[in-house]
Amino acid sequence: QAKADGRGVYRFFQAAMGEKARERRLFERDLRLALERNEFYLAYQPQKSVRTGAVTGFEALLRWRHPLRGEVAPADFIPIAEESGLIHAIGAWVLRCACREMIAINDLRVAVNVSALQIHSANFAGLVRDVLAETRFPPDRLEIEVTETALIRDFDRALTTLRQIKALGAQVTMDDFGTGYSSLSHLKMFPFDRIKIDRSFVRAVDQNYQGAAIVRAVLGLGRGLGLPVLAEGVETAEEFNFLDAEACDEVQGYFLGRPEPLALVT
Ligand code: C2E
Ligand code: MG
Ligand code: MG
Ligand code: MG
Repeated sequence: QAKADGRGVYRFFQAAMGEKARERRLFERDLRLALERNEFYLAYQPQKSVRTGAVTGFEALLRWRHPLRGEVAPADFIPIAEESGLIHAIGAWVLRCACREMIAINDLRVAVNVSALQIHSANFAGLVRDVLAETRFPPDRLEIEVTETALIRDFDRALTTLRQIKALGAQVTMDDFGTGYSSLSHLKMFPFDRIKIDRSFVRAVDQNYQGAAIVRAVLGLGRGLGLPVLAEGVETAEEFNFLDAEACDEVQGYFLGRPEPLALVT
């Protein structure tokens, strides 16, 4: 009897696993089709100078609107894009689209997120060079955002790529600083132009002494290294006032502006 039950449970698991694998295949297929079907678009979130309040640039955030699935969050599809290798084609699309759309907005930076796999691919800097040439986007207005996780896989490869990007005249930003595989040595070894403090430290920074201590420390680090610091995920006036009082350089977050499609930004 117990044995028969066991087999039943096993069959149940097998069916569940099969269903999961099927869903995953369908999701991946939809993701592959998303590019040709034009289901991706970029939302732009403003970044502002704390001192002047002026917009200094925009972060381009990838959006996927599927006819049946609706809006799918990057957190749900970027990992699948990475595992399936689709991230290279999607990442190239993001870069090209951001440069094309933002060229009309004079003098402002556009920040593009790139994944670890892109940083480690053979000729990522070549792609950046080609897109800059093709779109005539001014290189000094392009910023490439990388997380620390993107740097640890192959240190030499990552360093080479970042140096090549900088040689083109573009900037490189460390995203989500303080999370993941953070290491202060990364700031010393990689040629960053800017540090973004992760929003987990910014959340309720005015009420939370741990967050406040970490934010102050990162701001001190930025000053010492001569790198501007941008705080992400600023949602309240209180958080903003804290960052202002601590002389944070730039801010980004719902309090300053939500990510919006180009038509609403311009
Ligand atoms: P990220 O680069 O750290 O981007 C910031 C995320 O915080 C965005 O989420 C943004 O919408 C959200 N955000 C902005 N202000 C606030 C705020 O005040 N409060 C809160 N709670 N959230 C805020 P999103 O757009 O869902 O993107 C999530 C992550 O997906 C990004 O984190 C980035 O790592 C990745 N991602 C987005 N677009 C791309 C892309 O084109 N390529 C790659 N490789 N990754 C991307
Ligand atoms: Mg980012
Ligand atoms: Mg970030
Ligand atoms: Mg973040």
